[in-house]
Amino acid sequence: MTVKPDSYKPFIVPVFLPHAGCPHQCVFCNQSSITGAHSTPASKDVRHQIETFLRFRHKQRRYVQIAFFGGNFLGIRTPTIKRLLAEAAEYVTAGQAHGIRFSTRPDTINRQRLASIKDFPVSTIELGVQSMSNHVLQRSNRGHTAADTIKGVQLLKEFDYEVGVQLMVGLPGDNTKRVHASARMVAHLKPDFIRIYPTVVLADSPLDAWYKKGAYVPLCLADAVSQVKDLYLFFKNENIPVIRMGLQATEDFTDGSAILAGPYHPAFGHLVYSEIFLDLAMSAIKSENPNGDAVALHVHPRSVSKLRGQKNENIKKLRVKFHLQSVKIVPDKRLKEDQLKLNAFL
Ligand code: SF4
Repeated sequence: MTVKPDSYKPFIVPVFLPHAGCPHQCVFCNQSSITGAHSTPASKDVRHQIETFLRFRHKQRRYVQIAFFGGNFLGIRTPTIKRLLAEAAEYVTAGQAHGIRFSTRPDTINRQRLASIKDFPVSTIELGVQSMSNHVLQRSNRGHTAADTIKGVQLLKEFDYEVGVQLMVGLPGDNTKRVHASARMVAHLKPDFIRIYPTVVLADSPLDAWYKKGAYVPLCLADAVSQVKDLYLFFKNENIPVIRMGLQATEDFTDGSAILAGPYHPAFGHLVYSEIFLDLAMSAIKSENPNGDAVALHVHPRSVSKLRGQKNENIKKLRVKFHLQSVKIVPDKRLKEDQLKLNAFL
């Protein structure tokens, strides 16, 4: 039985299973670095992780999901999958959570495996798609093809799961043309939501060695933000929500020990939104062609910091580009969060 969530913003109770069920070593991956964990948790640790996070649940966050992340869930041995799902399901039965989600590789989806989990309250399955270019998948040693993803998504939809797709930019062999082509193919599959990650060089990943000998050059932060922005806007136009952009900050990431190089930023998604609002402001000012030396930009209160940009960078850029003395930001609740209006010249 599957239970579909009523919101794309559930309260997530994460359980990390680094490299569990993973038959490969993708060049960009070192799951221990990503999760900050270094082994598969035992049952008591799974319960401890769940119970610790449940304490942080805000009463207003209605929909709670227990999420198995960090490995290839359907690649784990079936008895272990069932044990983990049964442990999580106890919290669903007790009313402390509403569903379960997990991430898995496209090539581990098949009817037999989906049949083996059908009695658990799994609502959402995320696929590590990363790219729909077979060239990029092969260079990244993903061990699956775009055809596996197409089959996997179709099967998950047939079983009525909510389907998430994870995509990456900056993979070996990738370029903007391939990134855009991947996005078009993914949109055609109509997933329920997308996550987008820029490729970074994790310590002790295969990419670490490639980077050190000059065989891989990561995207710079500006190019990564620009590529992810294009994807975000494309999927928005397709009515497919992008629920995350950029890696989750962990202690290992912020102290710099896990990431050797690449476009990591603890507020990557905010950088993308800031660039979108900068573009909006620029085109509004260009089309209005103001005579004075001051403008007022109206945005929803929740979008004020996105329009300002990191350290007010957007305001500085607008002032320089349009020779403005002042750029005033006016919070306006009547606007949608993605809207900007240039209503008044001061
Ligand atoms: S990205 Fe996923 S499939 Fe690739 S090595 Fe990491 S856990 Fe395994």
